[in-house]
Order: sequence, then C-alpha cells, then structure tokens
Amino acid sequence: MGELYLPWSRVSDFTCYACGLCCYHFRIPLKPHEAISIARTFGPTYVDSVAGRQYIRKREGEACPFLIESNGKGLCYLQSLGMKPSACKIWPFRIYRNPEHGRSEEAYYSHRLGGFYVYVDQRCPGVKPGKPTPRLMKAVDEAIEVWIGVRRDQLYTTAFLPPLMKKF
Ligand code: SF4
Ligand code: SF4
Repeated sequence: MGELYLPWSRVSDFTCYACGLCCYHFRIPLKPHEAISIARTFGPTYVDSVAGRQYIRKREGEACPFLIESNGKGLCYLQSLGMKPSACKIWPFRIYRNPEHGRSEEAYYSHRLGGFYVYVDQRCPGVKPGKPTPRLMKAVDEAIEVWIGVRRDQLYTTAFLPPLMKKF
C-alpha cells in the first residue's frame, strides 16, 4: 500500500461506505468529556485508562462494543445518540498542528481558523488518491471543525445511516 498517511493534497475524494473496518482495527482515543459521558451512560467497563489517556475498551482487531452490523454495513450506536467520539468522526483524517507524518508542504492546510497539517489514512477503502476535488476540501474543512470542537453535524465526513435499533 506504500505510505499509510497521505497528505490531504494527494487525495481526490472520500466517501464513507459504512463498511465498519475502522471500528475493528484501531484503539479509539476519547476526549475527557467523551470518556465521562460513555462511562455515565453505559458504565465504567466501557472505558479503559492507559497512561492517563482514555479509550473505548476493546482490543485492536476486535469490534467496538458500539458497532452494530446490519445488512453488510457497520453502524455506530453512539452516533444515533449524538455521542460518537471525535476520533471516530474525523477518521480517516488525521489533523495536527505540526507535520507529524512528514511531507509538510503537501500536508499543510490553511483553514479560516488557522493552519493545520492534514493526512488521510489509506486503510479506509473510501479514500481515493489523486488531485483534490472541491468535495474533498469541504470534507477537510469539516474534519478540522469537528476536531477543534466548533462543529457537531457532519455532511461530508460520514455515511448517512438508517435509524438504529436500541442496542443497550
Ligand atoms: S470511514 Fe472508511 S473504513 Fe470507516 S466505515 Fe467509512 S468507509 Fe469504512
Ligand atoms: S464508537 Fe462508533 S464509530 Fe467509533 S469505533 Fe465504535 S462503533 Fe465505530
């Protein structure tokens, strides 16, 4: 696959197919208020603390306990409650204040709220390499705004979900 993280300027478009792959493969870091909210709603056993950081309790390669698989799609139960963690909301985008994965000129993104370094994780099957389209730029803008906490709703960085059954 080559390098894992492409600078945003090397990506043409992104569409989430709700395949659920990202809900299996990674540890899910939580912001402090997200960890508190999940622990209060579902119980403390759903949150892990490792070296002072909080994560959804799951092993890498194991399904997230909030994943609902239905008709070949992976749907997020937390999303239906407005509680989807911001790390999940912005995946496959990775946003930094410094060029963490190199290629700084290609990764630099000038947003109206400041400068960021934006990379895209190629393990997501919805990522298409190439020349950025206007839609990709809107997705990058949106991912930055979600990440810094000035936006909750998502138009370009998520799949549209059918209503979910109650899981818990
Ligand atoms: S973000 Fe990518 S890996 Fe995750 S569900 Fe959407 S298409 Fe699949
Ligand atoms: S919280 Fe939702 S989006 Fe995040 S890994 Fe779990 S099911 Fe997937």
